[in-house]
Amino acid sequence: MRGLAAELKKEFGFRLVKLPLDGGFSCPHLESGGCLYCSQKGSGDFTSPGSIKDQLALQKKRLAHKGEGFIAYFQNFSGTFAPLDYLRRVYYEALDDKEVLALAIATRVDCLGEGVLELLEELNERTFLWIELGFQNINPSVMEAVNLGYTEQDYRIAMKNLRKRNIRVVSHMIIGLPGSSLEDELATARAILDEASWGVKIHSLYVQEGTGLAELYKKGNYIPLEFDDYIRRASRVAQLFGDKVVIHRLTGDPPRGQLLAPDWVLDKRRVLGTLQKELARLNKEMLKKENE
Ligand code: SF4
Repeated sequence: MRGLAAELKKEFGFRLVKLPLDGGFSCPHLESGGCLYCSQKGSGDFTSPGSIKDQLALQKKRLAHKGEGFIAYFQNFSGTFAPLDYLRRVYYEALDDKEVLALAIATRVDCLGEGVLELLEELNERTFLWIELGFQNINPSVMEAVNLGYTEQDYRIAMKNLRKRNIRVVSHMIIGLPGSSLEDELATARAILDEASWGVKIHSLYVQEGTGLAELYKKGNYIPLEFDDYIRRASRVAQLFGDKVVIHRLTGDPPRGQLLAPDWVLDKRRVLGTLQKELARLNKEMLKKENE
């Protein structure tokens, strides 16, 4: 398995730490109700408002001990959904900081118009850039139930446009969405591989207060995955990815105090440790079968 820390160390020769930033963006999909699991901060629960310069200073204070260089990470809402001159200003404000050596921007597949792509191409020449793109699940009925507001085709078009410009992409997928099966999750992973994504984030779905999912959960209409089921699914998905993509994440990271369920997501060490063991077991089993 290729992990992000090792990959960046190979590239830069030292450890980099990600500084989560709020670029003051919104999301066009909120008008259509938003994704079922969207938190009130647009999935950027570890950021705080303020100018980019102030935010960088604040996040460095929190996180500088973890690395020798920084990745400016525009995490909240859709990080390419704003007028081009605004986008240019905030991205370059982050890059003006000489300790910022890489830029990561999270966005939606439908927020990558021609002008944005051109700007990203320019940034890609100036720094180590990656775009974080939500795909989540390939099954159209799951996409609809979760109200993602885009299709598999939209994801594939966005990937093609970014690939054409040599821009790295980290595709996001979620395990345990309502109505999703292991087969759907494996098919989602196959599509991510087909599209030559540089990296992947595998999230475990959790129920956060204030989301549409929380309402479903409270009415008994959504049952979170059990720990063992998550391990079973995530290990199969990670096995499929193998060394072909950089794994940026293998579980969810809920903000404490807002989590309704499942409790096991809070014990990240247990989740990751058990996943590694299961992955090693699956790989051993696969090797044995190949040698038979
Ligand atoms: S795309 Fe992101 S910010 Fe927009 S509604 Fe979905 S989760 Fe929220």
